[in-house]
Amino acid sequence: MINLVLFGKPGAGKGTQASFLKAQFNLIHISTGDLFRNHISNQTDLGKLAKSYMDQGDLVPDQVTIDMLENEVDQNPQAKGFIFDGFPRTEAQAEALDLFLAKKEMNISATIALEADDEILIERLLERGKSSGRTDDQDEDKIRNRFEEYNTKTAPLRAYYTNQNKFHSVNGIGTIEEITTRLTHLINSL
Ligand code: AMP
Repeated sequence: MINLVLFGKPGAGKGTQASFLKAQFNLIHISTGDLFRNHISNQTDLGKLAKSYMDQGDLVPDQVTIDMLENEVDQNPQAKGFIFDGFPRTEAQAEALDLFLAKKEMNISATIALEADDEILIERLLERGKSSGRTDDQDEDKIRNRFEEYNTKTAPLRAYYTNQNKFHSVNGIGTIEEITTRLTHLINSL
C-alpha cells in the first residue's frame, strides 16, 4: 500500500498532479478542499461552517477537518492506497492522521512538497479564479492570507515529516507533464 501526502501552497498544483498520480498508481484521491466545497454546494451544516473560514482564506478548525477526512478514508476500505491533497495542514492534523492510520495498520509512505515562488502562485491563482469562480482565488489579500496560514501552520510539517524521514520536495515550476514526471520518478524510487 502506498499513501502519499501532497503539500504545497495554494496554486502549487496539488490537485492537478493528484489527478494524474491517482490514475498512475491506482490511489484514492482525497482533497479536503474539494470535500468542503461539496459540503458548501450541498448546503450542509459543515459546509456553512467551512465557508465562513474559507471565504477569508483561513484554515477550517482541526477537529471538523480531521473527522471529515477520517470518514472519507473509512468509506474506501478496498483502497490500494491514498493520495491526501491539502491534508494535513497543521501539526494536530498530522498527528491525528498518524494515529488514525496506525489503528488501521497503515502509514504514510511519503510526503511531497511542490515548491513554487509566491509571486508565480499569485498569478496562477488569480488566473484560476477567473474560470473556477472560487472567491478565495479572486482576491489578492485572501490569497496572501492563505499563504500566511501556510507559512505559520503548515510549513512546520516539513520538520515533522523530516523527523520521520518522509519529507521530499519537488520543483513545482514547469509544464504539468514535467512536474508529473518528477513526481513519478520520486514515487517509483520510494
Ligand atoms: P484547497 O482547495 O486545498 O486550496 O483548500 C481551500 C480551503 O479549504 C483552504 O483555504 C481552507 O480554508 C480549507 N481547507 C482545505 N483543507 C484544509 C485542511 N486540511 N485544514 C483546514 N482547512 C482546510
